[in-house]
Amino acid sequence: MNGTKKVAFYTLGCKLNFSETSTIARSFTEEGFHRVDFSEKAEIYVINTCSVTENADKRFKTIVKRALNVNPEAFVIAVGCYAQLKPHELAAVDGVDLVLGATEKFKVTSYLNDLLNNVNDTTTSGAVIHSCEIEEADFYVGSYSIGDRTRAFLKVQDGCDYKCTYCTIPLARGISRSDTLENVLQNAEEISQKGIKEIVLTGVNIGDYGKGEFGNKSHEHTFFELCKALDKVDGIERLRISSIEPNLLKDETIDFVAQSRTFVPHFHIPLQSGSNDLLKLMRRRYLRELYLDRVHHIRRVMPDACIGVDVIVGFPGETEAHFLETYHFLNELDISYLHVFTYSERENTAAASMKGVVPLKVRNKRSKMLRGLSAKKRRAFYENQVGTIRTVLFEGENKEGYIHGFTENYIKVKAPWNPALVNTIQKVHLTSIDEDGLVRFEYVSNPAFA
Ligand code: SF4
Repeated sequence: MNGTKKVAFYTLGCKLNFSETSTIARSFTEEGFHRVDFSEKAEIYVINTCSVTENADKRFKTIVKRALNVNPEAFVIAVGCYAQLKPHELAAVDGVDLVLGATEKFKVTSYLNDLLNNVNDTTTSGAVIHSCEIEEADFYVGSYSIGDRTRAFLKVQDGCDYKCTYCTIPLARGISRSDTLENVLQNAEEISQKGIKEIVLTGVNIGDYGKGEFGNKSHEHTFFELCKALDKVDGIERLRISSIEPNLLKDETIDFVAQSRTFVPHFHIPLQSGSNDLLKLMRRRYLRELYLDRVHHIRRVMPDACIGVDVIVGFPGETEAHFLETYHFLNELDISYLHVFTYSERENTAAASMKGVVPLKVRNKRSKMLRGLSAKKRRAFYENQVGTIRTVLFEGENKEGYIHGFTENYIKVKAPWNPALVNTIQKVHLTSIDEDGLVRFEYVSNPAFA
């Protein structure tokens, strides 16, 4: 292969995966590769996999096929959580050339150059796997996404020390460890210097921020201290906390967000169940009373805050009574939307061998009910916000003649497409809710757009 090689990326899963793909992509361009869209012809396709995604294996195969349809000669590389959990399964997929585990994914260009230099060997011997025991993934590699979207995902923490019985993430990403405060601040400055207006803090268990590398369990800094330091970084207009465990969302952090210069009033807090019996079976580190207290505290100091909730339905042992306990708990809770996950068995998790398996039909019925509740909650939250003055960060995509954006408290708005609005923050008065559930507004601060 001579001349500039083209490389394309596809990311499955969470914000953390997107931040890591973006960092891996930068290592390719630093080595002279030219990044192209995944739909374009490239010599190399990198797929960053996820182990939580439903049918992760089927999705992966489809994406590999898509790449090889465009260029049957291409190199296909798999990285990410699924590659760590099931390296041999991915390596067995037709067309895959290289599978890299959690400790190797950031070294992809060096492995690739080896492969490119020995191209004849590879064709005969199938995919090459470079992986490791997850215990070896105890060091930290920083990353942030840039250029793909209006907001940047900044990784501040990786791995998890919790043992929730349904979760494979600790098996895919290793123990909890964090970036140094200095590195996070430097990355945040780099991002803001590139004109990005909003940074989303991401990780696996970011409330556990501060634990060092190589198994050092002591917290050099706390998540609260990280927030205070980031709030002082010049050039950042908005900071959003992606998701945080309820037991790690301290009063001081909530109070700080309420009065901070940059942190937006939006909290995404995994609940998983409204039944204490199930929370114990899930080995979560709180009971519903603590969750209630977190929501009440947020509402007390930030009445207009957006509160998003993760909830799992169909967990083993979940009776109709447990489910209704969750339904009524959420129905009575002053929250803004739900992310509903239908429980699915994961290998090597404690829950996979638990009694009381809930039939799939019942899981889906319960999931449907909670999605209905989520739509009701989001509508009520939006209606409650109509008439208020908010700020909107406008995104860069022209969607059927409309531009979209989000307020600081995560309300999705739309307006006729206007390229001059892209990546600007405008003060608006929320006026009505459209037939598609998005909010319309009028400009307050900038007659230029009125
Ligand atoms: S807190 Fe629990 S659910 Fe979240 S990553 Fe850790 S083990 Fe998984």
